[in-house]
Amino acid sequence: MSYVIDFRPTPALPVAESNQAFPVGRIYCVGRNYAEHAREMGHDPEREPPFFFMKPADAIVPNGATIPYPQVTRDLHHEIEMVVAIGRGGADIPVEKALDHVYGYGVGLDMTRRDLQGEAKKMGRPWEMGKAFDHSAPCTALKPAAMVGHPAKGAIWLKVNGKTVQKGDLAEMIWNVPETISHLSKLITLKPGDLIMSGTPAGVGPVRPGDRLEGHVDGVGDLTVTYAK
Ligand code: MN
Repeated sequence: MSYVIDFRPTPALPVAESNQAFPVGRIYCVGRNYAEHAREMGHDPEREPPFFFMKPADAIVPNGATIPYPQVTRDLHHEIEMVVAIGRGGADIPVEKALDHVYGYGVGLDMTRRDLQGEAKKMGRPWEMGKAFDHSAPCTALKPAAMVGHPAKGAIWLKVNGKTVQKGDLAEMIWNVPETISHLSKLITLKPGDLIMSGTPAGVGPVRPGDRLEGHVDGVGDLTVTYAK
């Protein structure tokens, strides 16, 4: 069988300190996973089950890139997040086995067209056009768990043009990484190559053309991207 159009390359993330790459399958994102961020979005951070939305794999942008400012929005927001890369698939994964499914970790941005997301929320419509647009998932190279372990505490922050705007600690997640994996694997069968964006701490805010974003997660890495003028 031949195909009528060319295959697109599989999006991939480099693996830190190697010449290897991690092919990206699907990107799942956890909503409102830090209490202070839930509050700033106008929600009560009670421990409701986590909820998920997605981004396309080709929304990945490599570390260091200059990103075209996205279409349509007048309120692009940054959300710095730790990214969990799934190396081994599975369904109904118990919490105590969940970390066995993790290949490694990265630092990512869940870029959000907040105006479009807000409109979708108000109308009871899907979030995709606010969340799943082109270049909406910048991410660093992955650090294998074999190298860095499984970070469960440590600083996560984001600077915009050198000024710290988001700051939190991984320990503040409402649902930690093993719990998140376990929940998600009850909803879908996780596959090797899937990424999970694990939620953002408080301080989300606008990004303008020309802005430089520098994100950090202790033990995982540093992400820098710039928006085109
Ligand atoms: Mn997010």
